[in-house]
Amino acid sequence: MPAPVRPQPRNRPRGRSRPAIRVRGLTKHYRSVTALDGIDLDVQSGEIVALLGPNGAGKTTTMEILEGHRRADSGEVQVLGIDPRNATPAWRNRIGIVLQGVADFGTLTVRQVIDLFGVYYTDPLSVDETLGLAGLTEEADRRLNTLAGGKRRRLEVALGIIGRPQLLFLDEPTTGFDPGVRRRFWSLIRTLRDQGTTILLTTHHLDEAEHLADRVAVINKGRMIAIDTPARLGGRRTGTTEVRWRTPDGPRTVRTRTPTALVRKLTTEFRGEVPELTVTRLTLEDIYLDMIGQRA
Ligand code: ATP
Repeated sequence: MPAPVRPQPRNRPRGRSRPAIRVRGLTKHYRSVTALDGIDLDVQSGEIVALLGPNGAGKTTTMEILEGHRRADSGEVQVLGIDPRNATPAWRNRIGIVLQGVADFGTLTVRQVIDLFGVYYTDPLSVDETLGLAGLTEEADRRLNTLAGGKRRRLEVALGIIGRPQLLFLDEPTTGFDPGVRRRFWSLIRTLRDQGTTILLTTHHLDEAEHLADRVAVINKGRMIAIDTPARLGGRRTGTTEVRWRTPDGPRTVRTRTPTALVRKLTTEFRGEVPELTVTRLTLEDIYLDMIGQRA
């Protein structure tokens, strides 16, 4: 990826005092389906927060309400200081939205599409700055219908950042990417954060949340079940080991912070070999799957 061009930041305090997003008690129903069941969320200016959760958890609904594209049933929402239901053109100017699937401008070039979108904003980045930031300088004259998936996604991001947004919404940014493209994309997102852009993204992938986010918000069945830094997400469960073995009555599982002592006790009890013994330290993925009730 070419070195990113660094645009002059505009109105970008890196302070952590005023939240860019403040949500309290958000609820949303689609007929009989409870999509959101009382979500609270604060995102500070300059943070990357990942909304992580399985299919149907309520991530997209939350994003759409924050973007002003969907109405909540109840709850309080402030995004850059206003309720998105009262979105003004000035507010929209400060928000960037990266949707899944770029509109099909088939035969236009990357440069032409970026140029076209820039006119919607009062103080857009130049086309060259945008190309540089999104790592698309070499693709500037390629037609959209010849771009591979990873490059198309970069173009979608380019269109989301051209207006120098203070706050960027990214819905499942790397779905369908191969690992190398994914890593380069993560580095683009971090560059934007380092320039002061606040970023809220959704993902199904724990590793993505872990690599990218300052804080991870785990949503399941319309509820926020955990929100913390990746390192602290597991809470007390981090550092726990699971010991499994077979007793005459069937399999047994115990979670412990002192597995050596337990195995020593079992060895004594069984007078040697413990049947089908496994000792496994819980990974963050185990803990996450536990949280959302999907661990085998
Ligand atoms: P995914 O990761 O699959 O995109 P998600 O976490 O983004 O899921 P949402 O799309 O917000 O979840 O959906 C939350 C719940 O609301 C799900 O049960 C979904 O089926 C339902 N839902 C979402 N949009 C609608 C709609 N327009 N009409 C009816 N039900 C909907």
